[in-house]
Amino acid sequence: MSSLTHACGLPERLPNLLGFGREQISGADPRLANPSFRAASLHRWIYQRREVDFARMTDLPARLRSDLTRNFRIAWPDVDRVAASTDGTHKYLLRLEDARRVESVFIPQASGRITLCLSSQVGCALGCTFCRTARMGFVRNLTPGEIVGQALRLEERHDLRPPYNIVFMGMGEPLLNLEAVLSAFRIFTDADGMGISARRITVSTAGYVPGIRALAREQPRPRLAVSLCATTDRARADLMPINRRYPLQELLGACRDFASRGRERVTFEYVVLEGVNDKETDVRRLVRLLSRMRSKVNLIPYNPIDDESFHRPRASALERMRRALVAGGVPASVRWSKGVDIGAACGQLWWQEQPHPPRQTSTADQPG
Ligand code: SAH
Repeated sequence: MSSLTHACGLPERLPNLLGFGREQISGADPRLANPSFRAASLHRWIYQRREVDFARMTDLPARLRSDLTRNFRIAWPDVDRVAASTDGTHKYLLRLEDARRVESVFIPQASGRITLCLSSQVGCALGCTFCRTARMGFVRNLTPGEIVGQALRLEERHDLRPPYNIVFMGMGEPLLNLEAVLSAFRIFTDADGMGISARRITVSTAGYVPGIRALAREQPRPRLAVSLCATTDRARADLMPINRRYPLQELLGACRDFASRGRERVTFEYVVLEGVNDKETDVRRLVRLLSRMRSKVNLIPYNPIDDESFHRPRASALERMRRALVAGGVPASVRWSKGVDIGAACGQLWWQEQPHPPRQTSTADQPG
């Protein structure tokens, strides 16, 4: 792809326009800023028409098209590997330009809806004890183009167009890469961009309070999901070290503030770990913590990662918790993860390095 070679022998690539917003596109070439409709047109070609070849952008002057081809590229992440689950879930390992890899998941739901689960960082710094990505440590933030590119690549592979849902529940903590996530969000939701409704995009956080407060002020803004997972500071700090910096009272205060500035409920994800956070007292405390907020709870059965520290709860225990939450006035549902057989379930997103493509098992997980 590169036409130039750097003096030290490294290939020097042309700048990739993927991820550029309207203003950055205007700044890429004076002829795009004046007349300004050319920048708008290029924005539509890249994101609305999903075009990667400047030569085909027929409403731009021919000379400009050839100069853009000489000076820039529009490149999506490449597929490194893909694993298909028996439930239709497809887990992708996408290769970025520096050869780092991130995971993105295509999830068909029983309702016919599609959800794309996207990554926001390579690795993660937060160290939640039940999460596989945490084992990787933090490598780097993704750029807006790398975030948008995940959706474009999955759309292409599945012949998909909006409406569909996007959740930032892949690798990383999206609120620790908020600027890039918001740039991607603007491209997703722009009518001259990918045209996805803001209500269909959810940012999931482990509880980075300054990020929640910043997100609350955005308009339009994505939905908020918070991984709660415990009901006392002590228990939560054991599972999620970020709780030491932002304890429950502060976290829930920011969530209440977020909820009060919009119409949508805040979702609380609660990974259920057998014998750790599944007791009646946990449920009672959860009801109390959420009582003053428009919220809902998703109970997620723990998906075992590669050690024995935690165990997956029984379906009956989850159902008991769900009923108790609903009885306490908190809407709740159980989320049976998709793609468990290919390690694509929540928190499992770290491709097991193996010499052969992942096995496709025939045993389906519980319904979901
Ligand atoms: N950092 C963000 C987004 C990535 S994690 C966050 O914490 O929300 C996405 C979801 O997967 C979170 O709700 C997290 O609690 C859940 N999760 C992590 N590990 C899991 C596991 N082993 N089993 C089930 N869910 C898990």
